[in-house]
Amino acid sequence: MTRFELLREPAHTGENRCWPCTALNLTLVAAGALVVGRRRRALAVLIAALGTLLVWTRGYVVPYTPRVAPRLVAASPVPNEWFDHDTAPPAAAQASSDGLAGDVDGEALLETLQADGVLVADGEMVDLDPSFRDAWETEMATLADHPTDDLADAAFEVAHAASVSVTDGEERQWIRLGDGSGNVMTETWLSRPVAVAETAAVRALTEWLDDPATRRAAAGPLRMFLTDCPDCGEQLVESTTMNCCGGSTPSRSEPADVLACPACETRLYTFE
Ligand SMILES: [Zn+2]
Repeated sequence: MTRFELLREPAHTGENRCWPCTALNLTLVAAGALVVGRRRRALAVLIAALGTLLVWTRGYVVPYTPRVAPRLVAASPVPNEWFDHDTAPPAAAQASSDGLAGDVDGEALLETLQADGVLVADGEMVDLDPSFRDAWETEMATLADHPTDDLADAAFEVAHAASVSVTDGEERQWIRLGDGSGNVMTETWLSRPVAVAETAAVRALTEWLDDPATRRAAAGPLRMFLTDCPDCGEQLVESTTMNCCGGSTPSRSEPADVLACPACETRLYTFE
């Protein structure tokens, strides 16, 4: 980890970066540097450089920006939607599901998983059967050691896909599963942690479920039971998709709660 990365504030940078906040802060830094620059040129350059670095690494430099900015925005003609943040993959992947299977009948799946002993119910609570958790974690530990190309091959083996490739994104690598049409909009993009979790789940489920389609369908929902990042081992945190700018919730939707790895800056599960 470099010194630069130590400074980084994942909640407000990378995919979580709030561009309106960043723009607002950079404007304020520039204005501050200009004012100082009238008298002390060297100091102004230092302020501009430090301020920009801080905005870049921490998301903002003006204290309380995430809380103050929405009020400024609410009082201005700027649409509130600009402050609507998400940790989603690139636009192309949003069109597809973010897992190995598409839409799933949750109720029926839950019943199957309980009937076959993958999940155990305790009153209102449902949890992983301890022996399944062991099997899943063993598979995850193996896959997490794989370089991304090998992990992609492993995901392709269990996925219902026609092609697989690895793309180096700005912040992370993506495993892309295609349906053979060559259309990027129908591809499924998996981050490493999600690919590890789902591929491991499908592998481990072989002992519990006979039907490969059901195993794939279960892999996504099972991610809600993760406690640690499947890829780096960091403890997962529950967060909200709108974790900047005070969450000016548009009335049309409530913010979804997500399970995310703060180290990988990756969403592992979205609670609907
Ligand atoms: Zn992680």
